[in-house]
Amino acid sequence: MALQMNSIARLNAEDFHKIGEDMYRMIVELYPICRSITGNGFRQTMRRIQESIPISIQEIPSGTDVFDWTIPKEWNIQDAYVKGPSGKKVIDFQQHNLHIMQYSVPVRLKMPLQELKHHLYSLPDHPEWIPYRTSYYKENWGFCLSQKQLDSLEEGEYEVVIDASLEDGHLTYGEYRIQGESDEEVLLSCHCCHPSLCNDNLSGIALTSRLAEILRGLSLRYSYRFLFIPGAIGSITWLSKNEEVASRIKHGLVVTGVGDLGIFHYKKSRRGDAEIDRVVQYVLKHSGKSYHVRDFSPYGYDERQYCSPGFNLPVGSLTKSQHGSYPQYHTSADNLEFVSAEALAESFRVYLEVIHTLEGNRYYINLNPKCEVRLGKRGLYRTVGGELDQPLNELATLWVLNLSDGGYSLLDIAEKANIPFRVIHEVTEKLLSHGLLMEQNR
Ligand code: ZN
Repeated sequence: MALQMNSIARLNAEDFHKIGEDMYRMIVELYPICRSITGNGFRQTMRRIQESIPISIQEIPSGTDVFDWTIPKEWNIQDAYVKGPSGKKVIDFQQHNLHIMQYSVPVRLKMPLQELKHHLYSLPDHPEWIPYRTSYYKENWGFCLSQKQLDSLEEGEYEVVIDASLEDGHLTYGEYRIQGESDEEVLLSCHCCHPSLCNDNLSGIALTSRLAEILRGLSLRYSYRFLFIPGAIGSITWLSKNEEVASRIKHGLVVTGVGDLGIFHYKKSRRGDAEIDRVVQYVLKHSGKSYHVRDFSPYGYDERQYCSPGFNLPVGSLTKSQHGSYPQYHTSADNLEFVSAEALAESFRVYLEVIHTLEGNRYYINLNPKCEVRLGKRGLYRTVGGELDQPLNELATLWVLNLSDGGYSLLDIAEKANIPFRVIHEVTEKLLSHGLLMEQNR
């Protein structure tokens, strides 16, 4: 028999520590792969995820129209370098895959330094770091390097070699669904198109995979859909092929930037007051962690597509540091030192708490609504939920009984009482087992 959702409420600090270490190990494995929005690096990443969960891998041909967009050509890269006047490699893709601008067309050229410089990208403010650059929709080529490296280049003739292919092929994405009691779905979506960058978004890939692994063993109220897609074009493609499915998405989160030591940031769905927005804020409020909440804006990751007006899905984004707000973002400094098992575990815990709250947020009816129920007679006074704080449990019990008239969900009650959802949920289970409440189907 599948485990109940409540079993995860019993995970302890040591369990979370181990989960954090597992996620970090997955990041270490995926880090060296040169991913892009299409190509073999992306496929290799999907196959690694398949070792943990049985995702299905979809391949959509280049040239396919998806709403206002078209699936681009597939890009694959074998090698790329620049040789200096002395014949020595001065930029080498084999040393770091950020050295190549993504979607660079194949090139074999000789040119003077001044001409080469039009194709070089660096970060003067962070002279040791290599930037991450792409040119998906305009044919171009380029190399990224540290400012220090750039400054060391001498005048003379340079040889540029990019051994890449940009041809008709496919856009790849991975999808996994867990059937729950209901066909209504919770969406967890992460972009998998970035090369050697850890927080953005190997952290999201690791957390989403681990979450799927844990949830697949549980008996769930909602069905869960996990998407491992290239950013933007991937969610556009998925939505264009799944309009019917999209209408069943009741709650969703875009999972990205969950491995750094910054505070939590929640970006609300376009609706702003969807259940997911309230749940995440409530969980963060009672997490004991610092956090920041902001309204939806049409800039960011795949929530831009899920929350486009034609879909307007209740999908928010829960991250640690907000994208673009930290200097390491989209540079070689978003590396294995920038993320930690500890931070990943902390994020995982909050995500799990969000899911636990979504699963448990139901409506109940008090079956003895005339005057207060006599708890002592039923052994519920000073005995409810032994492990948790007693007075809090009693207060939670009174709140649940008083507001369970079918008009308040458990989250409404938790918010009014300002008591952690977990406590409200636990006393509700107790009251149900004593026949004092009945679930109201809505
Ligand atoms: Zn990014």
